[in-house]
Amino acid sequence: MAKKILVTGGAGYIGSHTVLQLLEGGYSAVVVDNLDNSSAVALHRVKELAAEHGDNLSFHQVDLRDRPALEKIFSETKFDAVIHFAGLKAVGESVQRPLLYYNNNLVGTITLLEVMAKHGCKNLVFSSSATVYGWPKEVPCTEESPISALNPYGRTKLYIEEICRDVYRSDSEWKIILLRYFNPVGAHPSGYIGEDPRGIPNNLMPFVQQVAVGRRPHLTVFGNDYNTKDGTGVRDYIHVVDLADGHIAALRKLDDPKIGCEVYNLGTGKGTSVLEMVATFEKASGKKIPLVIAGRRPGDAEVVYASTARAEAELNWKAKYGIEEMCRDLWNWASKNPLGYDSSPASTN
Ligand code: NAD
Ligand code: UDP
Repeated sequence: MAKKILVTGGAGYIGSHTVLQLLEGGYSAVVVDNLDNSSAVALHRVKELAAEHGDNLSFHQVDLRDRPALEKIFSETKFDAVIHFAGLKAVGESVQRPLLYYNNNLVGTITLLEVMAKHGCKNLVFSSSATVYGWPKEVPCTEESPISALNPYGRTKLYIEEICRDVYRSDSEWKIILLRYFNPVGAHPSGYIGEDPRGIPNNLMPFVQQVAVGRRPHLTVFGNDYNTKDGTGVRDYIHVVDLADGHIAALRKLDDPKIGCEVYNLGTGKGTSVLEMVATFEKASGKKIPLVIAGRRPGDAEVVYASTARAEAELNWKAKYGIEEMCRDLWNWASKNPLGYDSSPASTN
């Protein structure tokens, strides 16, 4: 029997790529998403890409905070594990609307954990973030590095991590894996699924992508006076397909009887500056990205990259792709879907 995985936020960027890999890996996936920041088209395409495995995908348009609806889903299916992606993730918006973020991310997670416990499903993989390292004093960031938050979004990740640790302490039947993602970039190599943010993108590469297709005139570079190779901020960019793969590795790890509440970085261990990333994208796409240099963005760290040793040793997982492949696949997606899912020529809605 195929293992059944509930995927919250499975219509989103990382979720849709992970759902595809689950299906291809012989799992069956039930997605719960309120489509607040995503499109059902992504799941239609996942189904198509998964070919004969596509029938093992089902979708409920449900908000995690809707307890009766969530209860119904859990009473219809016995899940082996939950991968919990659902959450709001825009840092700037979280500063403007902190209660929205605390309500959505914390209440959503607490409701999910309560319903899971009630239905005897105590296996969880949670999307945490490198944002919990704040402005790291030392790099690479190891899972033991101090954690802190610079904004309400980061605080929701920090609090959910702590909630998970408390839940495990209170009941050792739980097995919880907290995955701290570094900077996911790129798209499935088919170019049929990818990142399609609503509104003005907050993150570097979605912004670059929109400049490349003519939706925005230039990229604003936030600061060129950092103590880095070219003065711009350094991050650990990871291909979204590698990241999705890390979730399959985490699910396998949940079978280990010694698992309690564990934390793993998912990154490549390599730091890349903003200018390096832009240059690599220009090469991959053949498009010039006009730049405007501006001041630092408040709350931005100088250099953040992962120590990957623990994930390699314990999850038996390692990122395969570099920034060239990330930019190649990002451009493949962007050029096929210049307006994202909703009105692109490749849309199969
Ligand atoms: P995304 O916005 O594309 O996906 C999140 C999905 O959750 C969306 O489809 C949204 O509609 C859904 N959702 C939000 N609140 C919900 C609710 N209350 N009930 C049901 N569905 C809800 O984001 P993503 O980039 O795929 O990120 C997935 C997870 O990974 C998030 O928790 C995010 O914080 C975390 N993360 C993302 C990044 C990144 O840079 N993309 C980095 C680190 C961590
Ligand atoms: N960045 C930038 N212009 C943008 C968006 C981001 O120069 O429009 C820089 C940002 O200052 C940081 C890097 O790109 O140095 C990655 O930013 P992103 O928001 O993608 O990730 P995070 O800072 O959350 O790691």
